[in-house]
Amino acid sequence: MTAIPIAPHAAALPHTAPLHIVTPLLESPAMSVQGRAVWLKMDALQPAGSFKNRGIGYACGVYASRGANRFVSSSGGNAGIACAYAGRKLGIAVIVVVPETASPRAIELIRREQADVIVHGASFQEANQYAQSLLRPLDAFIHPFDDPLLWEGHAGMIDEVAAAGVKPDAVVLSVGGGGLLCGVVEGLRRQGWHEVPVIAVETAGADSLAAALAAGEPVTLPCITSIATSLGARKVAQAAFDAATSHPVSSRVVTDGAAVAACLRFIDDHRVVVEPACGAALAVAYDGAALDGFKNVLVIVCGGVTATTAQLNAWAAQLPA
Ligand SMILES: *Cc1c(COP(=O)(O)O)cnc(C)c1O
Repeated sequence: MTAIPIAPHAAALPHTAPLHIVTPLLESPAMSVQGRAVWLKMDALQPAGSFKNRGIGYACGVYASRGANRFVSSSGGNAGIACAYAGRKLGIAVIVVVPETASPRAIELIRREQADVIVHGASFQEANQYAQSLLRPLDAFIHPFDDPLLWEGHAGMIDEVAAAGVKPDAVVLSVGGGGLLCGVVEGLRRQGWHEVPVIAVETAGADSLAAALAAGEPVTLPCITSIATSLGARKVAQAAFDAATSHPVSSRVVTDGAAVAACLRFIDDHRVVVEPACGAALAVAYDGAALDGFKNVLVIVCGGVTATTAQLNAWAAQLPA
């Protein structure tokens, strides 16, 4: 995962400011109904636009303290942007290798954070392989979801909810490779909230957790057909599968159209633009059917910056809601 050994002289973490912010916890008048409050953890407001600032920022800080002098990422999405942000803040060089399919907007957002972007290969697999081949001894490879340091960083969002005095009786979140799921379950366990169920939402065509749960082990989807590219891990992390089978987790799959419709509704209700990856969780919260019997629901508004309002509207025109 990382090419860097722990330097023998590794010191304590440097006193850098955290690379994420404490986000607002809002009660949503639009999603709440009689007898059920719905709380939004607004990680869309993180500086790089998604919850990935938490885990990736934390991991980058730890790798820097262990002597890493360059970060390498192969994510053409929010993970690459968060990695570029962390590198800029820590004064450490960042290389992001993205496939030819990466959107010009994502490349622009990564470059805006002053990282070097290399476009290589037709698919994520090829870009990722090339990124691995670039690794030098003092590089840290920053995985988008499969790294315990990421989960530890993501878990902080649950500490913030607890500190705000809210104890949810259910949590709704989106699942790609499952790093967010691992982090939220870790955070719930930290609080002793072992019984609080998680509703894990994917879009059809990016439903690698649902497929893993059906198969009894992580399995590889033949391809990703959903527009929610930030959920497009063909296989979930083993740790995400383990979290989903050792903690009360129920899996839901929504259509792309429902995810996009939820994004557009969310813009009007909360004045924040998010990706369909996040819209998947919002769709379940808006629909409410999966929330029957819960009184205090926490929705992780994971964010995402690679879809513009024009793109959301174009998708909405093509997709059945
Ligand atoms: C990365 C990401 C996800 C999925 O997170 P995983 O940790 O891969 O499960 C969901 N939404 C957004 C906006 C993301 O950036």
